[in-house]
Amino acid sequence: MNSSTNASNSTTIAVIGSINTDMVVKTPALPTSGETVIGGDFFMSAGGKGANQAVAAARLGANVSMVANLGTDMFGDSAIKRLNAEGIDCSCITRDGNQSSGVALISVDEKGENHIVVAPGSNGTLSNEQIEQAFNSIPDNSLVLLQLEIPIEAVARAVELANKKHCQVVLDPAPAQELPDAVYAGTYLFTPNETEAEILTGISVQDEESANSAAEKLVAKGIDNVAITLGAKGVLLLNKEGREFIPAVPVDAIDTTAAGDCFNGSLAAALASGKTLKESLAFACKAAAIAVTRLGAQDSMPHAHEL
Ligand code: ADP
Repeated sequence: MNSSTNASNSTTIAVIGSINTDMVVKTPALPTSGETVIGGDFFMSAGGKGANQAVAAARLGANVSMVANLGTDMFGDSAIKRLNAEGIDCSCITRDGNQSSGVALISVDEKGENHIVVAPGSNGTLSNEQIEQAFNSIPDNSLVLLQLEIPIEAVARAVELANKKHCQVVLDPAPAQELPDAVYAGTYLFTPNETEAEILTGISVQDEESANSAAEKLVAKGIDNVAITLGAKGVLLLNKEGREFIPAVPVDAIDTTAAGDCFNGSLAAALASGKTLKESLAFACKAAAIAVTRLGAQDSMPHAHEL
């Protein structure tokens, strides 16, 4: 791992997660089964929750290393080029010649309705051995940032090794799914949105009070800190010291794609720079508020000077 990459802060952030290429075609109408429609503009954009969060953290000056698995295809090549250009250390990204890189095929109609098919490809074959290999070069006391677009076994192994190396674990449980008890117990900060909190707790999260009930259930599983993001409302933090509500920054949002990814990446950057948890949550709300005023996922992530 190249520890000099973008190193304005000393704590390394290891983002362990997915890299995707989104292929988007606009269409007057979405096709029904068996139908072919002639669409409009086509564009490709960089995606994957892992890569989005890594870019968000790197743009805010953090020293970021990405742990991921790409195919040996052109999508993998261009993803590495892109992440390198953001100053992200890619030396822990492995390549799988038997899989395509992760792609999402997205059709969007004039009303904004969409059809999305994701082919996880090489994201789905990130193995425990690759995680173990990466941890040989992740420094002790790093911050490890995880999401759930890679195999759960790899997430569980990463949490276990992170704890052994005294690394703080920040886990964005997206897309939501059942997690082993040891993952909850080994997590410093858990950051579900409303939907994910509901799937994981069975409590319908609508507002601060219901978020608090869901957070209580998650804290009872052994997580140190639970921060439930509530979109334009803000974020509720619950831990042993009590609860705190951090309001969102009011803006005219035009595209909330990857708001959560910006939030998690900037939260990690703030924690790695030595800010307290509450300061870091407020910082992440500011960064995400900027991101939602712009189009796109990685393209919308703000730079340090904008905050
Ligand atoms: P996700 O994108 O994972 O669904 P949220 O929608 O909860 O996550 O957004 C994450 C964070 O981004 C929120 O806690 C908030 O700080 C910020 N955010 C999201 N939407 C808006 C908005 N419309 N205006 C201001 N901030 C927003």
